[in-house]
Amino acid sequence: MAKAWAKAFYNSRAWKNARREALRQNYYTCVDCDSRAEEVHHEIELTPENINDPNIALNPKLLTPLCHNCHTKRTKGCTGAVDDGYYFDDEGQVKKR
Ligand SMILES: [Zn+2]
Repeated sequence: MAKAWAKAFYNSRAWKNARREALRQNYYTCVDCDSRAEEVHHEIELTPENINDPNIALNPKLLTPLCHNCHTKRTKGCTGAVDDGYYFDDEGQVKKR
């Protein structure tokens, strides 16, 4: 269920910069388990309404570096969560394992 409406955002330079900064500021460390962070979690789940609001989508305070496993765990409970057998790739797209 790759979200089509989110595609342009995840491909944007603004997002790539914000994501890299969020990782760098936490020394590429997962905040949940201290292993290497590879992904950035949005504390406020993105929707078609807020994705173009930089105060939400690009706010460093709302971006949490996580490793792959912890990201999967955290997003599981959310609306539109990924099912077992799926995961988020680097750009936040859902992929099949
Ligand atoms: Zn972790």
